[in-house]
Amino acid sequence: MSMYEAVLARFNVAAKLYNLPEDIAAMLVVPQKQVKATFPVMMDNGKVQVFEGYRIVHSTYLGPSKGGIRYAPDVNDDEVKALAAWMTYKCAVAGLPYGGAKGGITCDPRKMSVGELERMTRAYTNAMAEVFGPTKDIPAPDMGTGKREMAWIMDEFSKIKREYLPGVVTGKPITLGGSRGREAATGRGVMIHTIEAMKKLGIDRKKATAAVQGFGNVGMNAAQLLHTRAIKVVAISDYTGAFYNEKGIDVDKAIQYVKKNNNVLQGFTGGEPISNEELLTLDVDVLVPAATQNQINEEIAHKIKAKLIVEGANGPTEYQADHILNEMGVTVVPDILANSGGVTVSYFEWVQNQMGHYWKEEEVNAKHDFAMETAFEQVWFNSKQYKTSLRIGAYITAFKKLEKAIRYRGQY
Ligand code: NAD
Repeated sequence: MSMYEAVLARFNVAAKLYNLPEDIAAMLVVPQKQVKATFPVMMDNGKVQVFEGYRIVHSTYLGPSKGGIRYAPDVNDDEVKALAAWMTYKCAVAGLPYGGAKGGITCDPRKMSVGELERMTRAYTNAMAEVFGPTKDIPAPDMGTGKREMAWIMDEFSKIKREYLPGVVTGKPITLGGSRGREAATGRGVMIHTIEAMKKLGIDRKKATAAVQGFGNVGMNAAQLLHTRAIKVVAISDYTGAFYNEKGIDVDKAIQYVKKNNNVLQGFTGGEPISNEELLTLDVDVLVPAATQNQINEEIAHKIKAKLIVEGANGPTEYQADHILNEMGVTVVPDILANSGGVTVSYFEWVQNQMGHYWKEEEVNAKHDFAMETAFEQVWFNSKQYKTSLRIGAYITAFKKLEKAIRYRGQY
């Protein structure tokens, strides 16, 4: 099953249960706009390489489309389409006035120099100049991109439009209109959803243990924030390896290590090396997959021992694994709720850009935590009302908002 087929499979389950009107379902199963561009970039060796980039706008019913940009070797239109659709549902669940979009470039950023990355990012921005805009479509970071790339996009777009437009992109450095709290926001949201779910499930967080897969923006911040809330993080990992420490990983030390070690955990001595599968199937209270998609397949699902999974990554659980986890009684806080903290603070960044007035970190965090707690309650309520999983409850939460917006706006 492709990623977009997996989106549709879950969509269909939720649409049937909610009785989503046929015309609205028809509007939501296809993206509104799909742009694929190729653009040449001069590489450091003097040769020109032609890259392929995507921007897919899934919907704009609730507002301008919003979604990250991913740089990875396997980026393709099916993946970007799935991620764009999830952004529609994520923004609706989080109560944001945004539609959904996603973008990406098929490239290997780990093998590219800073100069090559900058030229490629500017060329992509130029190719997408008609799509992007502060009231049209607003990109943000995703895997392989961060504040540096967002600064280049903002600069290039402002040059093309001949005006300073910081609101065209979020996740920028603070000096260029970025928001305090944005960098840690997705991990912070994961922490809030973990705590809210633990309260509902009666898990004592002070005695709880966690395993976190992925140690990039989301995993690192989630691990650190879980640790500050007295949840013992016993395992962490990245693409170079996984590490286990029964007494708890010293997360701050791991972060310092990674920052000095080319952004990877390879060689970390604060835990014993274990396999990726061992990490995913550890006997912990909460598992946070925060790396990439399709990590929990049917085979792994059968072996999961965690009571709670909080999906930091987008699409970490395969569709076929959903029913296995449900039958095993594992509570899954789905991606479209669990990792919505990032886009929530992206929205705050955009609001601050539009106002030209900037908030303190405590103010951003307080607004974020309130938004996440509210979203969690709504999804929990809908999952109970419809006697379904939190994942399907999250889709239903989104359908309720999208249906109203679409009806008010009307159509041709
Ligand atoms: P990142 O590039 O900063 O980090 C990804 C991490 O995952 C790295 O540590 C990498 O080594 C690790 N990783 C990759 N493949 C792995 C594998 N097979 N096994 C173990 N580790 C692996 O990316 P990120 O921004 O942290 O994003 C991670 C996930 O969270 C993605 O699915 C992304 O779409 C999602 N997400 C990110 C944000 C955000 O604000 N950055 C917001 C919402 C969702």
